[in-house]
Amino acid sequence: MKGAFSLIMKLTLLGGASEVGSLSAHVEDKGVRMLFDCGLTPSKPPKYPMKPPAVDVAFLSHAHIDHSGMIPWLCLNYGMDVIATPPTIVVGTMLLEDSVKVSSLEGYPAPYDKGDVKVLKKHFQSAGFGDILDVGGIDVTLHSAGHIPGAAMFEVKAGRDLLFTGDINTLDSNLVTGAKPVKCDVLVIESTYSGRDHPPRAETERHFLNKTREVVERGGLAIVPAFAVGRTQEMMMTLMNSGFNIMLDGMGWAVNRHYLSMPDYLRAPERLSDAMRQTMVIRNPGDRKRLAAGANVIITTSGMVDGGPVLEFISERKNDRNSAVLLTGYQVEGTNGRMLMDSGELMLAGKPEKIQCELGFYDFSAHADHNELIKFIKACSPEDVVLCHGDNRVVLANDLREDGFKVHVPKEGQCLDL
Ligand SMILES: [Zn+2]
Repeated sequence: MKGAFSLIMKLTLLGGASEVGSLSAHVEDKGVRMLFDCGLTPSKPPKYPMKPPAVDVAFLSHAHIDHSGMIPWLCLNYGMDVIATPPTIVVGTMLLEDSVKVSSLEGYPAPYDKGDVKVLKKHFQSAGFGDILDVGGIDVTLHSAGHIPGAAMFEVKAGRDLLFTGDINTLDSNLVTGAKPVKCDVLVIESTYSGRDHPPRAETERHFLNKTREVVERGGLAIVPAFAVGRTQEMMMTLMNSGFNIMLDGMGWAVNRHYLSMPDYLRAPERLSDAMRQTMVIRNPGDRKRLAAGANVIITTSGMVDGGPVLEFISERKNDRNSAVLLTGYQVEGTNGRMLMDSGELMLAGKPEKIQCELGFYDFSAHADHNELIKFIKACSPEDVVLCHGDNRVVLANDLREDGFKVHVPKEGQCLDL
């Protein structure tokens, strides 16, 4: 018993409980109302979490829109502080500005505007890994989540000790060091890869590089769709020293520069600098055709082929069997990338078109897989495990229950008394 409040922690997942996207967790403990992440799923139309009630403080785990997309709305309505690391603040703001632009172009305007994203900057309270903050009398510590640079887990010492992971990767990647377990009473953990394991990363890298070499040697172009934040940098570092002419298009370059200005959040900043030196950048869309003519590999957005320069590159080479589209991450149901994987067709200028290029899929995920999640959870030794951010949570829940854990798989909106 740690105090009068120890048994009345209330936790509600407002979104992203049974699906990968629009994550938001509301927690009330020791009289403090907290919100962990408030994202949206950038589908067409976008998916939002349930409307959050007023809170005293919000925590943002990382910059990806499925965790951050509704944070401007939250500040606009409730005006509270948002605690996040410097890379999350800088890169997250950039992604939110882009998301406002893209969503209005696509005819699904966000419930806030560019000006609101600017105002958001005043609400951010910056904190680094290992910092202990006093939030309404509660100690909060940030730990690296290993997912992308600056991605944080929040350890909250309220009535019970809570750990909210956001998205985690427990293995080292080129870009960041893997997350380390933190002892806690209540563990709120993502479960994107429940029931699935990744092949060893070294094997994935080898297969990807071999395929790229094959494509280049037969005179084709390897088109590598990748998110601007995290995956682009990972792919640049995977491809460095390969001798290919590598080209980068889209927002990834701006993200690289931000990351390099905060080297403490990178595993090997000098390697990212090296990778940048080995990569040509398309800074002006007018130069795209000319510069791309000399490229062997193009890394570009969007990662799920739903928009951005990648559509232009694929469209130009859709009948070229020597070229290849090499997908580098999970393709969510309903995206163009998923359609390409399932049917070999892609929506181009509003109509489905057969893509004759070779298709490849490589699992460069930045999420812990099933076995890694179990290992991490065991090492945190929580009394209660709350699984979120997964469309197949039951497999992980069953395995954890067999190991004696008390596991919760709440639906969106269901309040847990912990
Ligand atoms: Zn993420």
